[in-house]
Amino acid sequence: MTRPSFPRSFAEFQAWFPDEAACHRYLVRSRWSDGFVCRSCGHTVGYEFRRRVKSRSRATVPPSDHFRVLWECASCHRQTSLTAATILDATKLPLTTWFWAAFLVATDKRGPSALLLDRQLGIGDHKSAWFLLHKLRRAMVNANRTMLRGIVEIDGTFVGGYQPGLKGGRQQKARKAAMVLVGVEVQPYSRLDRKSGQESERERSGRVRMTVVRAENAEAIGAFIEANVEPGSTVRSDGLWDYVTATRELGFAHDRRVQGDIRKTGQVVRHAHQAIANLKSWLIGTHHGVGRPHLQAYLDEFVFRFNRRGNPEAAFQTLLGLGSTHAPVRWATITGAQDLPYYYAGDEVPDENDVTA
Ligand SMILES: [Zn+2]
Repeated sequence: MTRPSFPRSFAEFQAWFPDEAACHRYLVRSRWSDGFVCRSCGHTVGYEFRRRVKSRSRATVPPSDHFRVLWECASCHRQTSLTAATILDATKLPLTTWFWAAFLVATDKRGPSALLLDRQLGIGDHKSAWFLLHKLRRAMVNANRTMLRGIVEIDGTFVGGYQPGLKGGRQQKARKAAMVLVGVEVQPYSRLDRKSGQESERERSGRVRMTVVRAENAEAIGAFIEANVEPGSTVRSDGLWDYVTATRELGFAHDRRVQGDIRKTGQVVRHAHQAIANLKSWLIGTHHGVGRPHLQAYLDEFVFRFNRRGNPEAAFQTLLGLGSTHAPVRWATITGAQDLPYYYAGDEVPDENDVTA
């Protein structure tokens, strides 16, 4: 799929997408870059027509924009919605709201919270803003994404648990923590020191992956490696015995770093620790803690933003589901986090209203 060029600032974005018609034109260009193609019979002549719809937030959309664009095949007369098989399917929010939200999520360094999005876009209803963001988060998981390769640091961390500054009931709730496994690609490179003329070997972080697991044990670590790390790669860990067992069983090379190595390397798994620190500061700073059943969705957002830094346009299109097909996600599935892994460290009974991080 060829991609139309992309605005570089919010002002430019507003000029590009001032109304529903502009958003529709962009969808057409993204979807049918070489012209209309019928999904049913493959015919390449189609007619565009508009059907009136009731818009949910009348305040933000003029009445002239209360329509939905459909295409009808000139041969078999099958009608196709431009938003079919994308997360926009059957939405009651205007396209401009979706586009603005996807732009903010794709370009803002930390991404908006539901509260901020509601205020900035004038959605006028916190639940709709929350739901919209969670739908975008569901679009961030690409099942066909390529695996981490080379040297991959893996470490586990508790999210939630004891937090200084929280009092009474909130502290009691926060104390039940979730275990998250973090994988980070390590990219070695050499840097020339101008003064000495010497080359030094250095490392930087590549892509990351994060998953909620039941515990940091060999079984969970093995499943994480199988799902995220390309065979032939080297797993680097802090030397916990479960990593030895998991890598041996799967036939991965294991760079086992123990406390004695700290003098040489600074930290045993420096890149994983850096990613964990960034994750925790983002969860607290931007979202002020998240509902624990939804933690995986927030991990997906963090990973999505981290892995696509420097490519906002691809991020924007992925968010709107323009490059792939995503089944529509229902309200009940999202509010109940029914499609997310739902583990609690220590196997405690989950409480819907728990707050973590
Ligand atoms: Zn057709």
